[in-house]
Amino acid sequence: MAQYQFQTEVSRLLHLIIHSLYSNREIFLRELTSNASDALDKLKYLTVADDAYKGIVFEPRIDISFDKDKKTITVADNGVGMNERDLIESLGTIARSGTRQFLEKLAADVKKDSNLIGQFGVGFYSAFMVADKIEVVSRKAGEDAAWKWTSEGKESYDIETAVRETQGTTVTLFLTEEGEEFASRWSIEDIIKRYSNHVAFPIYLTYEQKEYDDKGAEKGSSIKTDQVNDGAAIWRKSKSELKHEDYVEFYKQIAHDTDEPLFYVHTKAEGTLEYSTLFYIPKKAPLDLFQVDYKPGVKLYVKRVFITDDDKELMPTWLRFVRGVVDSEDLPLNVSREILQKNKILSNIRNASVKKLLAEFKTIAETDKEKWDAFVSQYNRPLKEGVYQDWTNREAIIDLLRFKSTAVDGWTSFSDYVSRMKDGQKNIYYISGGSEETLRSSPLLEAWRAKDIEVLIMDEEIDEIILPSIPKYEKQDGETTLSWDIKGVNHTGTDSELDKTDKQSEKDLLPVLEKLKKVLGDRVKDVKLSKRLHDSPSCIVTDENDPSLQMAQMFKAMGQPAPDVKPVLEVNGEHPIVTRLKDCVDEERIADTAGVLLDQALLVEGVRLPNSADFVKRLNRLLSAV
Ligand code: ADP
Repeated sequence: MAQYQFQTEVSRLLHLIIHSLYSNREIFLRELTSNASDALDKLKYLTVADDAYKGIVFEPRIDISFDKDKKTITVADNGVGMNERDLIESLGTIARSGTRQFLEKLAADVKKDSNLIGQFGVGFYSAFMVADKIEVVSRKAGEDAAWKWTSEGKESYDIETAVRETQGTTVTLFLTEEGEEFASRWSIEDIIKRYSNHVAFPIYLTYEQKEYDDKGAEKGSSIKTDQVNDGAAIWRKSKSELKHEDYVEFYKQIAHDTDEPLFYVHTKAEGTLEYSTLFYIPKKAPLDLFQVDYKPGVKLYVKRVFITDDDKELMPTWLRFVRGVVDSEDLPLNVSREILQKNKILSNIRNASVKKLLAEFKTIAETDKEKWDAFVSQYNRPLKEGVYQDWTNREAIIDLLRFKSTAVDGWTSFSDYVSRMKDGQKNIYYISGGSEETLRSSPLLEAWRAKDIEVLIMDEEIDEIILPSIPKYEKQDGETTLSWDIKGVNHTGTDSELDKTDKQSEKDLLPVLEKLKKVLGDRVKDVKLSKRLHDSPSCIVTDENDPSLQMAQMFKAMGQPAPDVKPVLEVNGEHPIVTRLKDCVDEERIADTAGVLLDQALLVEGVRLPNSADFVKRLNRLLSAV
């Protein structure tokens, strides 16, 4: 017998599971049956795709039994099995890097997040919620040796040789006091029906049935074995055969979620291509949504044979939050990964699936605002990624985007914005580059507010990348296409609809602008009289073709070559700080005022000043001169 130490992350996770997770203990059974089902899927694939496994008689089944007296539950499958190395790699480590993040989240709010177990492949370990010792006996398909893995869920586990008649895995849980309640026929049946009814292999439960004579006295007992699940692939059934609960149960099983999905789309295509798809949108975005090594959520089956759950090609990356199944009738069973990537059939299924999902999104967006808002609060950002990733569906995706706005609470669309436009308004306006709070209080909005023109608040980093790629918003009105320019208020040239300054005051202030330009030198691209300011003395805008200052700062922070963006300073010709400069001849005072006008405008936009001590010095000099 050899003893091994768990990887540190596993020890931490086990500690959390054993000491902190109390809710939803019953999911351990869902996790174990789902592992068994995966193991059967893998073997099924090998027996059809690999000649070396052709000799194996594939009679898939999952067997559950329990012993009330010994306080054990056993889950066995005759699937692909594990050898010694597999056991060490699968049940001693956590393979995915997303798990660290998961652990951090879990540690912060342990009880609430117990349903997240499984999302990062920690499913098996959840059995330690109900057991203080677990034994796994496994024999890998095609090999003769069997192995026994034993652990009490602390720092280590043991592996020794064992005997098992056929390939597959038997997991025995030695239940804790809290786990004892699960060692009963009714409780196991109930959990399996609830969580694993649609596992595509039969799940049998073995139990002891007492027998009674005519007078009701116990006369003995017999051992019975019944199939407890439905055992058919749900996605292959027709919609009319299925109830909402069936869809929900299957979702919980494949997505490891205890919550219901937000919605789902079930399609059976018959025609040139024959396939079934069942897609789910989780209520909460998967935790690894923004990780490069995210786990794809769609499984590929061919004629009901599981092929892979690790193919990122099945869905475009912007739809990586979708969970579900694609089952094709037309692909060969022995498709290799390389073939999958270039496969025409698969790419047709994929394109049709994206269209189908988009059509469903559209219907919900148009008919169920509450649901769509819930979607947007989780997935607005990947949707925006779709705008620049998916050129064929771009227009459809743009219509699905929702934004915050100065005119309405909650989310709004370009189309809604247009319907609220002022007569004669030519552009759709937005402000970007900062947090929602910074943007809402930006002096740049003053003139738009005064004219009661709506401005969309774009407070996500990705906005700065996608908005320049959507210069126009177009809408079909019968035969004609209506079109509006989309313009950022923090850019030069967007003030054409504002008519505040008159020519005379512009002329009067020309010398002030010259003075400011001279002392600010190359810190600014230009100094202009502003049409957009009402209360504030100054603001900064960027040239229409330049990225915003915040964006440039972001590039720098990421260590990337940042474009050297110079702001255009706009001053308010009616503000006393500015008008006072008309008669000022004190060079130092002009220089201080110029510096403060620029720096305060930068500060309000959330830009870090290159020399804040200098700003404070100037401010103090000006204040003491009053
Ligand atoms: P996940 O199933 O999400 O990968 P688990 O912690 O539940 O995570 O399982 C880890 C790994 O252990 C699985 O990926 C699989 O390789 C292996 N495994 C678990 N149970 C079985 C089983 N019954 N048969 C074969 N392999 C198994």
